[in-house]
Amino acid sequence: MPPRASGSPRRRSGPRPGWPSSTSRLGREPQELHVLVNPELLEQEGAEIDAEGCLSLPGITEKVERPARIKVRALDRTGKPFELAAEGFLARAVCHEIDHLNGILFTDHLHGLRKERMKRQLKRLASGAPAESTAEARS
Ligand SMILES: [Zn+2]
Repeated sequence: MPPRASGSPRRRSGPRPGWPSSTSRLGREPQELHVLVNPELLEQEGAEIDAEGCLSLPGITEKVERPARIKVRALDRTGKPFELAAEGFLARAVCHEIDHLNGILFTDHLHGLRKERMKRQLKRLASGAPAESTAEARS
């Protein structure tokens, strides 16, 4: 796990007040909403690199490798088990949210120069200065 920049904003990963300890909500519109309680990654296949950001780190994006396709087992809001197969953006979002439940941010997946750029971005964000986009500027 990479070191966190001192004074960096507190992660908003992990349990949220009012939510069971392992619940993730995905989607902005009610018809897109996926609620996964205690999600488990069953299968993953392939890899895709794409820009990723997080509401916990406003204005910061970086390219992150994620599985191209996944299968997840979880419980729904009523406690009924279900499986979800996802690819592309939804697979990325599910992996991102599962990481949050395990205390991991997308920045923890970065290495080398991307990790160093992210450290500078996090310091800038912690100082109150606006973040500069990283992923789009360096394709
Ligand atoms: Zn996030």
